[in-house]
Amino acid sequence: MAYDPDNIFAKILRGEIPCDKVYEDDHVLAFNDINPLAPSHVLVIPKEAYVSMDDFTQNAPDAAISALFRAVGQIARDLGLAGAGYRILANTGEEGGQEVPHLHIHIFGGRPLGPMLSKGAG
Ligand code: AMP
Repeated sequence: MAYDPDNIFAKILRGEIPCDKVYEDDHVLAFNDINPLAPSHVLVIPKEAYVSMDDFTQNAPDAAISALFRAVGQIARDLGLAGAGYRILANTGEEGGQEVPHLHIHIFGGRPLGPMLSKGAG
């Protein structure tokens, strides 16, 4: 799938629409999900244009991959989630349920999350 520069997260990165920012560094932006599914629900995205986890893990340089995952851990600690625990999720592609075609890692926490999150039955 080609990267769509008009996707909503690309617009957030360009400052064309606002976000509720929780973290930013040279490689990464993180913001609260507009429709939270847990008391803490943050989306962590690379600043570079990657459609999905598949695209990112094939094409991103090691420094970008390292930066994204280190940021996820740092944000979870900053949110106070590391002690009680949290969940990360990257919906990938059509069958993975990905809605926005710019790689994003969800961080969920702040309550017991159960064995899995489910929007629909498996
Ligand atoms: P996914 O289904 O994994 O692609 O997740 C997309 C997520 O983006 C959903 O949880 C949406 O609630 C969230 N979302 C969509 N638009 C925005 C926005 N403008 N700001 C923050 N989160 C958004």
